[in-house]
Amino acid sequence: MPHTVALGEPTVGEAELDAVRRVFESGWLSGAGPTCREFESRFAETAGTQHVLTTSNCGSALHLALSVLGAGPGDEVIVGDYTFPATGHSVMWTGATPVFADIRADIWTVDPAAVEAAITPRTVGIIAVDVFGQPADFDELRAIADRHGLWLVEDAACSAGASYKGRPAGSLADIATFSFHGRKGITAGEGGALTTDNLLWADHARKLHTYGIAPALTREGSTDLPIPSFDEAGYNFRMSDIAAGIMLAQLDRLTSLVSHRGEIAALYADRLKQIEGVTAPVALEDRVHPWQSYVITLAPGVDRGRVAHHMRSNGVQCNFGTYASHVQPVYQFDGQLPVSADLWTRHLAIPMHANLTEADVDRVVEVLSDSVTVAR
Ligand SMILES: *Cc1c(COP(=O)(O)O)cnc(C)c1O
Repeated sequence: MPHTVALGEPTVGEAELDAVRRVFESGWLSGAGPTCREFESRFAETAGTQHVLTTSNCGSALHLALSVLGAGPGDEVIVGDYTFPATGHSVMWTGATPVFADIRADIWTVDPAAVEAAITPRTVGIIAVDVFGQPADFDELRAIADRHGLWLVEDAACSAGASYKGRPAGSLADIATFSFHGRKGITAGEGGALTTDNLLWADHARKLHTYGIAPALTREGSTDLPIPSFDEAGYNFRMSDIAAGIMLAQLDRLTSLVSHRGEIAALYADRLKQIEGVTAPVALEDRVHPWQSYVITLAPGVDRGRVAHHMRSNGVQCNFGTYASHVQPVYQFDGQLPVSADLWTRHLAIPMHANLTEADVDRVVEVLSDSVTVAR
């Protein structure tokens, strides 16, 4: 039997190993050190923002974002429904209440009209998710946020290398948050970043991410004995410098990884036209889709479980897309979000990563085609 085609796969090698070696030689392995600072200044160019803070993951970056924006008990935060539940959880961590808003049927990002309809006197902000990396409608969302005096956060977990109307993901809201988990487009295994143009928020997030004091790097080299005091109960949300070294090497690869995945997406779009019952994902002209995942929609009546079983049995990995948040018991949310609720049951992620070849694509499409035939 031919090799299994993986759903997602990191692209890592000698460059990342060399980067780790350099961090070992520097002697600073823990977080918030010189390698983190170097990555932050380089990632600021990618994200197009003044300030970058490396974090332990995207969830912790979201937690910091909402903390510095002041979300708390009694507040409502409107969240794009179709996402990994880190987005909704982060609202709950602050004591605020997530209010989920339905999504666009074509690109699955939050529907600006649904956001507007969900605003109440308790609403303080909006978190829009770049679904599988494709940016949400930030012009419309910005206008709504400004009209109602709300802040706007971009969950850019999957969107390194993406852009919207020529502006990079990371710069599209008041604060954005990235993930460098192993399933994302660039990775250090685990990791994240917060990006913003606001110095006060960046400084506050930096303090909160290291237990509520300035990072040790700021005291390094002093001949005095500076003794910090704690006036806020912060967290340890630091990225290690080892991870930052890996991220520097990944950043060098970013452009080629995104373009390779774009080529794979174009091959899929072409080949999938032949399969009845399968719709390819939509990438809008005014944004660059970095293709963190490639998610197809099965026609109603196609048994997704059977498709998945048949594909997996034939050596092609697949999975559901991401989650409809509002149906997750943890949120006890009682609204109806029909678009998200429906698509969540019909989406199927098929292999997408930068190590795929055209032969892999042919094999995936062939197995998918057979699988849909048995499952109709
Ligand atoms: C992966 C993901 C997260 C969580 O990222 P971590 O780095 O694992 O915390 C949050 N939001 C979205 C949209 C994601 O895809």
